[in-house]
Amino acid sequence: MKFAIVSRGDERSNAVEAKMKQYLIDFDLTHDVEDPELVISIGGDGTFLEAYRRYAHKLDTAAFLGVHTGHLGFYTDWTVDELEKLVIEIAKTPFHVVEYPLLEVTIRFNDDQKTVHALALNETTIKTVEGSVVFDVQIRGEHFETFRGDGLCISTPSGSTAYNKALGGGIIHPSLEAIQMTEIASINNRVFRTIGSPLILPKHHTCLLKPLQKNSFIIALDHTTKSYSNVSSIQCRVAKERIRFVRYRPFPFWSRVRDSFVAEVKPQD
Ligand code: NAP
Repeated sequence: MKFAIVSRGDERSNAVEAKMKQYLIDFDLTHDVEDPELVISIGGDGTFLEAYRRYAHKLDTAAFLGVHTGHLGFYTDWTVDELEKLVIEIAKTPFHVVEYPLLEVTIRFNDDQKTVHALALNETTIKTVEGSVVFDVQIRGEHFETFRGDGLCISTPSGSTAYNKALGGGIIHPSLEAIQMTEIASINNRVFRTIGSPLILPKHHTCLLKPLQKNSFIIALDHTTKSYSNVSSIQCRVAKERIRFVRYRPFPFWSRVRDSFVAEVKPQD
């Protein structure tokens, strides 16, 4: 099997990367950064997002796995202490794959700029440098509301525990093929009115945002951010593509949610 490793770049993660790479090569696996079948991220969820970004064009052939060198993550379940065990699993056991939905984002322009197509693992957020964004929000081709506020966040189920959660969005189990739209500080008064609640859209219910005033935006896709001008529309829907996670043991989503947000951290002795 061909593998690639993406490290967070700190000393600890780099040391784990070097050790793991050598172990896997000793087990006759091939290190191939161009065309890996297994992408291993070493760091945190942020590192996993970067590993996904680097290999998002290989979703058909590559599956992903995360080792955390800090705290338990939503995409990273193996600890450094389990490295030897993990290497043996990779080398000897056929892996089980679990698929999660992705968000397809399409940005179109008023001028001759090329349409941007992207697949986000966590979310996209649309904001502006100054003032508010004003959008005609269409759902399934019909006007839903005129949104005015700091911005909008459209997330995947696995991204629902990230920025979406901080915005008061609900946590969605990744077995549900859906996207969630949450407001970032909407303006609600006698003139402007928005729904105010997060919206959860099923597969094939496309959400289209059409700028009504400014058409320059700061658009974030997971951990990357870029400015775009002359935007004519931003379309979001559940992607046809899915990310594949390698599983050698169960990694229940609700246990991760509990352990990350609810479980008490025992004080150190
Ligand atoms: P960062 O600002 O350095 O870290 C963001 C935090 O979000 C990290 O603690 C990261 O975990 C965690 N995280 C990432 N994906 C997650 C997920 N699916 N569920 C739960 N937590 C998650 O940025 P970054 O590391 O480059 O990550 C980019 C992400 O930050 C964005 O996709 C966005 O979701 C999130 N973000 C959150 C807020 C907020 O909560 N107010 C604001 C902006 C952006 P690790 O420590 O394990 O890396």
